[in-house]
Amino acid sequence: MEEQGQLEELDKKYVWHPFTQMKDWEREKTVIIASGDGSYIEDVEGKRYLDGVSSLWVNIHGHRKKEINDAIKSQLDRISHCTMLGLSNVPAIRLAERLIKMMPGGEAGKVCEESGVRSEESEDFTSCLTPHPSRLTKVFYSDNGSTAVEVALKMAFQYWLHKGVKGKNSFLSLRNAYHGDTLGAVSVGGVDIFHEVFGPLLFRTFKAPSPYCYRCEGGEKFPGCSFFCLDEMENILAANHDEIAAVIVEPLVQAAGGMIVFPPGYLRGVRDLCTRYNVLLIADEVATGFGRTGRMFACEHESVVPDMLCLSKGITGGYLPLAVTVTTEEVYNAFLGDFRDLKTFFHGHSYTGNPLACAAALACLDIFEKEDPLRNLQPRIETLEDGLREVSGLAHVGEARNRGLMAGVELVRDKATKEPYPWEEKMGWRVANHARGKGLFIRPLGNVLVIMPPLGIGEPDLRWMLAVIGEAIKKVSA
Ligand code: PMP
Repeated sequence: MEEQGQLEELDKKYVWHPFTQMKDWEREKTVIIASGDGSYIEDVEGKRYLDGVSSLWVNIHGHRKKEINDAIKSQLDRISHCTMLGLSNVPAIRLAERLIKMMPGGEAGKVCEESGVRSEESEDFTSCLTPHPSRLTKVFYSDNGSTAVEVALKMAFQYWLHKGVKGKNSFLSLRNAYHGDTLGAVSVGGVDIFHEVFGPLLFRTFKAPSPYCYRCEGGEKFPGCSFFCLDEMENILAANHDEIAAVIVEPLVQAAGGMIVFPPGYLRGVRDLCTRYNVLLIADEVATGFGRTGRMFACEHESVVPDMLCLSKGITGGYLPLAVTVTTEEVYNAFLGDFRDLKTFFHGHSYTGNPLACAAALACLDIFEKEDPLRNLQPRIETLEDGLREVSGLAHVGEARNRGLMAGVELVRDKATKEPYPWEEKMGWRVANHARGKGLFIRPLGNVLVIMPPLGIGEPDLRWMLAVIGEAIKKVSA
């Protein structure tokens, strides 16, 4: 108790928290986490919370996973950090090889002969529509999701310069997109409440509609719609492809924009448009990567191979900051030349390819191989979907949606008209705070409650989590 009081005082005196109105923070009780175990975190007073958002979507295999702990300890006895600028290191090399082997369309997948796109039986998979010869073969390291995106944007821009194509100085992204907090990532972002204020600092981008079927901009209804969202993207590309270096999307789920789930076929459609209009496709799988959608990478669901794939968050199992931007031989080769040609990619962070983080990532991949959580995920996804169906019947739930183990529950003031709660009412927060009192930690995105537990969460915990959320919604919205 004493520890809580003292630490809370120091926190309020010295720490400025991210995405937090500190005026509210200063008058609320601070929950101070001291330890974690499996799907649970525990505060300094001994109160346990189910970690319903995997510590902001990073924790894949649970807290204090022995194999990852051991890998980091063993790497500590070798070296903790050395630079990748002018040197390489053992775990970074090993990890790059492992990642390339598991990339969509990579060595592990069958390759569709005429297109080079991974071909595999899947309900959503339409066909290898567009010839797209690329495979992802090169790993560029950085240290968080935003930097993985910055790298992709700069690389795409410079790629076209090296190819002698001038004028591709812009990008196409989606409304409701979230790609990180650095200024390049914010420029391709589309969440007004976070991004609008920085408008004067941002570069110009083209924005296509979000494939947000619950609130379709074109007033259409899926299934049976004419894919208004893809048509609009095509209109922008047809008119402006000379100015567009790349399209960037979060494949299958626009996460921080409100857990918006793409309709089947949309991602494949985006890939085809990029190929047709000669722009690169950047897949930001920072949130969806490493099993979240039910497959290792979301792109696999529609047999899509992007030109660049950004990964972070779950890559180390939620232990240490690490990110990669993976790209093709075609992009890599465009940067080769004599030093005086200045084709070098002048970008690199101090902690790029950190050996401790790479060792954690290797252990994380070992767990995927040994424990095969993806194979065991299906019953959990079904349990989640059963729970979501129940929650969606509540009076103030507009839609409860998921892809794999990523879910969002959208709260509305009026279910019939879909009228949202005004954001100032902080409805999502009020429900989340109620759940916190019951021992469940979730963090909402505006009116959308996010459910993204570790992949190995027990089914009873998952059921309990949904029951607590349902109760909290009833209580707060009553
Ligand atoms: N891209 C996506 C899709 C994300 O969800 C996030 C983080 N929520 C980022 C990029 C940025 O990652 P980071 O917070 O590690 O910079």
